Amino acid sequence: MAALQQYEVWFVTGSQHLYGEETLREVADHARVVSTGLNASSVVPVDIVNKPVMTTADAIEQLCLDANAAPNCIGLITWMHTFSPAKMWIPGLRALQKPLVHLHTQFNRDIPWDTIDMDFMNLNQSAHGGREFGFMVTRLGIEREVIVGHWESPDVHAELAAWMRTAAGRAALRRARIARFGDNMREVAVTEGDKVEAQIRFGYSVSGYGVGDLAAAVDAVQDSDVERLMEEYEVQYTLADELKNGGERRDSLREGARMELGMLSFLKDGAFSGFTTTFENLYGIPQLPGLAVQRLMAKGYGFGAEGDWKTAALVHTMKVMASGLSGGTSFMEDYTYHLHPNGMKVLGAHMLEVCESTAAGKPSLQIHPLSIGGKDDPLRLVFDTQTGPAVNVCIVDLGHRFRVIVNSVDVTESENTPKLPVAKALWKPHPDLKTAAACWILAGGAHHTGFSLALRPDHFRMLASMLDIECIMITHNTTVSEVRSQLRWNSTYYDQKRI
Ligand code: MN
Repeated sequence: MAALQQYEVWFVTGSQHLYGEETLREVADHARVVSTGLNASSVVPVDIVNKPVMTTADAIEQLCLDANAAPNCIGLITWMHTFSPAKMWIPGLRALQKPLVHLHTQFNRDIPWDTIDMDFMNLNQSAHGGREFGFMVTRLGIEREVIVGHWESPDVHAELAAWMRTAAGRAALRRARIARFGDNMREVAVTEGDKVEAQIRFGYSVSGYGVGDLAAAVDAVQDSDVERLMEEYEVQYTLADELKNGGERRDSLREGARMELGMLSFLKDGAFSGFTTTFENLYGIPQLPGLAVQRLMAKGYGFGAEGDWKTAALVHTMKVMASGLSGGTSFMEDYTYHLHPNGMKVLGAHMLEVCESTAAGKPSLQIHPLSIGGKDDPLRLVFDTQTGPAVNVCIVDLGHRFRVIVNSVDVTESENTPKLPVAKALWKPHPDLKTAAACWILAGGAHHTGFSLALRPDHFRMLASMLDIECIMITHNTTVSEVRSQLRWNSTYYDQKRI
C-alpha cells in the first residue's frame, strides 16, 4: 500500500541577483541548513529535497514544471529568505499544479541587538520578502498554506508535518482506484454521486464488478493459505470457542479466511486502493464480509459499505495521511444516540465493518447472526475503540460540487454492551451533540464517515483547500447560526467560481 516514504516535497528558496554572489552563497548555505534541520525533525513524515536558490523567472518556471512532472513530488515549501521580487514568480506559479506552503520563517531566530548592522538586515529579510511573495500568490488566487515561526520551533514542525500528510493524502487520492462489489444500497441517496466529476476533481477512479467476479477470486484461494491465515487469527485475536480448532463453527472461520484472501488477491491484482460492498448484492458469497473488511482496512484499503465509493476513497486517503501516527482510522457510521441530559453521546459502529486499527485492546473474533441481508452468520472482530480526540469526516456530492464536512469529537470509554457484539466507539461531538448534529445535518452531512483518532480538523480544511472544494468545520466554538451563514455565503462563492 502507499506509504509516505515514496513521497518528497521540494524546498524552494527565493532570492534575487542584486545581492551579489557572496550573499547568494550564504542564502544557499542557510537553505541547506534549514531543509536539513526540518528533515531531522521526528514529526516531519516526508523527505524534504533542497532545491537551488531561485533568482530568475525562467528558473522558477522550470522548477514548477519539473515539480508538476515529478510523480513523487507532492508539493513545494517556499521560503523567501531575502527579497525576491514577485513578478519573477508569475510564470512559475501560474504553471504550478502541486500544493504550495509558504514557510514564513527567518534564518536567525533573534535579532542580535548589539551587533545588528545593514548587512544583517539585508540578509534576514523574510519579514518583507515573504509579504511580497504572499501578495503575488493571493493576487493569482492560488490556494496555499502560510506557516509562520522560526524553523527550529516544534509548532512549525507540527504544522509543516500536517501539511505534508495532507499533501500526501491528495497525491494518493489522485491515483486511487476503487472497486465496487455490487452497486449502491437501493434507494439510498447520500452514497450516490457523480463518479465522472469525482475523477475530474479528485483523480480517483471507481469501477464496478459483479459479485461473481469476487466469488471466483475467493474460490481460487488455496486451502493451505486458508489454514495459514487461520493460524494468524489464533495469534492476533481471542477466538470464540465455537471458532476454535474443533469448535462447531470452525468451517465458518475457514469461509471467512478464504473470503479475506480472495478479496485481497482481487484488490492486489487490480491495484485497488479501496472497495465497497453491499449486503443487497452478495450472490455467490456465503456471508457479508465483516472480518475481511476489518482486516483489509487495517492494511490501508479504504472501505465504504452499501456501495459508498466516496467514503471508500476518503478512508483510504485518511489512512495515507495518518500513516505512522497512533490512533487508528476507520469507516464509521453514526449509529444510535444517548440523549441523556447529563451528557449526550453518539454510539458509532457499523453492522460489522470497523477497522481494527482503532481497537483499544486485543479484539475478540466472534460469529453472530445479522438481522439484515438473509445470509450466513458473518464473522466479525468485536472491540471498543481507543479513547481521546478524534474526527468524523464526510464528503457529499451536492450535484454540481463537493463539500467536506468535519466534526471534532472526544471518544470516551465505551459502556459494556453484552448483547451488541460489534466493534464500537462512543463519542461526544464538539461543541456538543445538539449543535454538532444540527450543523452536520444542515450541511447535508452523511451518516457514513471516515473516523480517525490520528487526524485533526485542520488536516481536512487543508485537504479541501488543496482540492478547491468547500469545507464546513464543526469544532469547539461552532454555532448553528454561523454554519447557516457559511453555507449561504459559500454557495455564492462556489457558484460564482464555476462561471
Ligand atoms: Mn451503513
